[in-house]
Amino acid sequence: MSNAAISARRTEAIARGVGVTTQVYVERAKNAELWDVEGRRYIDFAAGIAVVNTGHLHPRVVAAVNEQLTRFTHTCHQVVPYEHYVRLAERLNVLVPGDFAKKTVFVTTGAEAAENAVKIARAATGRSAVIAFAGGFHGRTFMTMSLTGKVAPYKTAFGPMMGEVYHAPFPVRLHGISVDMAFQALDKIFKADVDPSRVAAIIVEPVQGEGGFYEAPREFMTRLREICDRHGILLIADEIQTGFARTGKMFAMEHHGVAADLTTMAKGLGGGFPIAAVVGRAEVMDAPGPGGLGGTFGGSPVGIAAAHAVLDVIADESLCERAERLGARLKQRLSGLADRVPQIAEVRGPGFMNAVEFNLPGSATPNPDFANAVRVKALERGVILLTCGVYGNVIRFLSPITIEDDVFAEAMDVIESAIVESA
Ligand code: PMP
Repeated sequence: MSNAAISARRTEAIARGVGVTTQVYVERAKNAELWDVEGRRYIDFAAGIAVVNTGHLHPRVVAAVNEQLTRFTHTCHQVVPYEHYVRLAERLNVLVPGDFAKKTVFVTTGAEAAENAVKIARAATGRSAVIAFAGGFHGRTFMTMSLTGKVAPYKTAFGPMMGEVYHAPFPVRLHGISVDMAFQALDKIFKADVDPSRVAAIIVEPVQGEGGFYEAPREFMTRLREICDRHGILLIADEIQTGFARTGKMFAMEHHGVAADLTTMAKGLGGGFPIAAVVGRAEVMDAPGPGGLGGTFGGSPVGIAAAHAVLDVIADESLCERAERLGARLKQRLSGLADRVPQIAEVRGPGFMNAVEFNLPGSATPNPDFANAVRVKALERGVILLTCGVYGNVIRFLSPITIEDDVFAEAMDVIESAIVESA
């Protein structure tokens, strides 16, 4: 079987709306490496978009899932419930930042988590409006597409969007948007578009993911929390991409010293199995009535079993500390290229949620062609990279945090040569 032959079949069989960034058809994977159907090996710096933080097929995740498969795979928790669903909720209620009683609901995907966070916020406040941020990404369902702050390709041809969703600018120093400017714009929304007393929630990624790996400044999050408190608005932290040790903390909000009322999570929680959750203030989470939340596959027994193992692995293998160490090495290495590569505008990101942004040399004009050239060159040399950013001019680095030191070093050499030779 060849990649090209499958790719031709894919073009015939699969809707083109499902974009594919590589033509590497995977056959098997292990920790940070994968092998395609032609037997070629790759180092995976995408990790299924920040999903296998604990590596492909972590032995403890596999063992937990295998053990679950000997007992039952599906009963629907709403019909015949199971104890490890409750126990995972108990663990997350403790782990999620916030010194208050919490409750949890499990769903299946990130978008579903964000959808449910908005439903819960509306039920709890009796209000309908939601404020999100330009450049933010929350999913592809109707509400989450509406919350997403990027038009092409996510919203193109899919309108009308859901009502009462407003977008404020996200503070990005590199793009000349200060924290003060972001709050002036938010104030303008309160004056021109919607009274704050009608706003149910503000949803924010502590580090924008798809939008370009921009970390919310600490002052921004503190002031957002103050505004929410002043107006009775709930703060939703979308930790779907930032969660589970990626930023050097279990959750990125731990960097900010303030807590969200509701936290969405997915991706890394299941270590490769689909499971997602909303965790929040107990009284807020209890606002929807029985039957108002859930779904057939929400909190699948297999996903729940995997998630318990993921939490154990993160703690036992000190993956938060490891994320800090790997990220520091990566950022140091890339920062050292600045003299030779005038296209590098910034190297950034907390923990191991790192990115490099490229502009035209000596200018503030985004350079998506350069980012793409680096991505393609690295792929030719066996390293899978992803771009991101509203302008597509950012390369993000998302290998498993469990990546072996020698595999990491090998990938660093490839990434460096791909950047230097594209300059
Ligand atoms: N929120 C964030 C911050 C994300 O990064 C993503 C996925 N990239 C989503 C929501 C949507 O998650 P899913 O694709 O699982 O629906």
